[in-house]
Amino acid sequence: MTVNHDKYTKLAQAKDKIARLRQSFIEQLPNRLIEGKAALRLLVEHQNEQTVANIHRFFHSIKGTSRSFGFEKLSDAILAGDDIASRLLSHQESLPADWMQVLEESLNGLAHEVALLTSQEVTHHDAMSNLPYFGQESNPSYEEGDHKLLYLCDDDELSTEQLATQLGFFGYECRAFYRTDDLYRAIMQQEPSAIIMDINFPEGQNAGLELLESLADRLKTTIPTIFLSVREDFSARLRSVQVGGAAYFQKPARVLDVVSMLDSLTTPKAPEPYRVIVVDDEPEIASYHGIILQQAGMVTEQVSEPEKLLATLEHFRPDLVLMDMYMPTCTGRDLAKMIRQIPEYVSLPIVFLSSETDRQRQFSAMSVGAEGFLTKPVVPEYLVAAVAIRAERMRILRMLMAKDSLTGLYNHTTTTSFMGIELANSMRQQQPLCFVMIDIDHFKMINDEHGHPIGDQVLLAMSRVFQQRLRHSDIVGRYGGEEFAIVMPATTVAQATQVIDLLRQDFAQIIFNSPQGDFSCSFSAGIASYPAHTTIESLRAAADQALYRAKRQGRNQTISDKQSQEG
Ligand code: GH3
Ligand code: MG
Ligand code: MG
Repeated sequence: MTVNHDKYTKLAQAKDKIARLRQSFIEQLPNRLIEGKAALRLLVEHQNEQTVANIHRFFHSIKGTSRSFGFEKLSDAILAGDDIASRLLSHQESLPADWMQVLEESLNGLAHEVALLTSQEVTHHDAMSNLPYFGQESNPSYEEGDHKLLYLCDDDELSTEQLATQLGFFGYECRAFYRTDDLYRAIMQQEPSAIIMDINFPEGQNAGLELLESLADRLKTTIPTIFLSVREDFSARLRSVQVGGAAYFQKPARVLDVVSMLDSLTTPKAPEPYRVIVVDDEPEIASYHGIILQQAGMVTEQVSEPEKLLATLEHFRPDLVLMDMYMPTCTGRDLAKMIRQIPEYVSLPIVFLSSETDRQRQFSAMSVGAEGFLTKPVVPEYLVAAVAIRAERMRILRMLMAKDSLTGLYNHTTTTSFMGIELANSMRQQQPLCFVMIDIDHFKMINDEHGHPIGDQVLLAMSRVFQQRLRHSDIVGRYGGEEFAIVMPATTVAQATQVIDLLRQDFAQIIFNSPQGDFSCSFSAGIASYPAHTTIESLRAAADQALYRAKRQGRNQTISDKQSQEG
């Protein structure tokens, strides 16, 4: 399969890159040795903060990098020197009398190892054995999004047809079967994303359950199955669980409940790839850690000069920062403290990655509000897991803050901030963008007639239609009470109008169940676009005006802003 093939090619490429990084590290060693000797000379001449910090950073970074790249002998050679430098740094009194000599010997030992290494072929070092994968392929087109195949099997033809039609509006491609053997044959030909299954059939009182059982024997993977039955007895429910049913609804089930279950069963759980900034003054080691994370499906950005971190934070929007401790301009501790002083990044996870093994210094670094401390060399699997756990927690936290609790859509603030980002992107890439405002028609009447909780069901249904049917890259927000906003990057007005209007037609056909009688409702939409409008305010005002026109002209329609049509 192409996916696997790609994965192996990528792995091979990553290993190749790491081999080159190791090579380049080795090639730099003679020069670094010269720098180290100079640093020692300066220290001998003048022992002050600066000269101590320099010699410490020299030993420390060589130790960390050489271990990470699997050159243990190299790091062993300077262990004693690193220890002295580290004690000098923390002003320890109890230094051995000959500490200067120890430093010198360490440098000589290093010189010896460097001479050996540069004269021979670099041996292979396999850093990546079995990294867990955290990425996800995104879904770029409208077509892919709305083709979730669903099989419904029930001997009650009429109600099955009705359910299939309703589910179709939520983006499911439904096929109905009235006999279990027909369903079985269809599954053998093409497996659906999910099955909705009755229990009682003319061919047997438990025919639905038995069919699922026989499928389990036959298929390697389980197809998510929802049972839908009039039976309310314990044994039917129990057996449905035993044969692997994912959910059980008693007839008549509300379409929305079935949809929300289907959504959660068929939507892949994996979110967008985690985004990580790797800060390390040594580009090779920053790349190396970056490659390990990329290999696990994450997106990374490398910062080797601390002064560039703030700009990178702003444009890259990471889920986590992996931070080196000792760098020429400032320490990782200072940088972390600086990040924490910026309100936007107060909760951004920061994880130190350093060869610092001194507990006291680790705690001191952590005390500025870091999430963890990993020591170099870090086992790749451990690095990936440690980053993923913390990035995921950040994602959840962000989601709780950014999303509306009823619909799970982005709230007003988040939608507006995404809109700004997408508009800037579109300008940079010279691509069109559409902004859509949507408002439910006569929603007050629905609330008055059927009650607020039923009104909420309508809002929920609408958000599900948008989420299921739009592209992954479209941003759907709940803008106000019964108002929604959609940002559609790389979309022309003509395309947006077509997509939104199809959703409008489908939404109007959804039947809501209420004690006061079943009903349906509609929405109106207004569309504005970039480049006809070039600011958030102007896009918003134009979409709002188009929406107002749609309302005035009789509601249940999609209108685009005049300027956008011409543009
Ligand atoms: P129009 O077609 O002109 O948009 O008429 P409308 O009745 O939809 O518009 P109006 O703005 O007058 O009423 C909006 C209603 O939406 C009033 C408010 O009670 C209701 N609403 C706002 N938020 C919620 C919510 O979260 N749940 C429910 N059930 N109703 C809400
Ligand atoms: Mg309104
Ligand atoms: Mg309204």
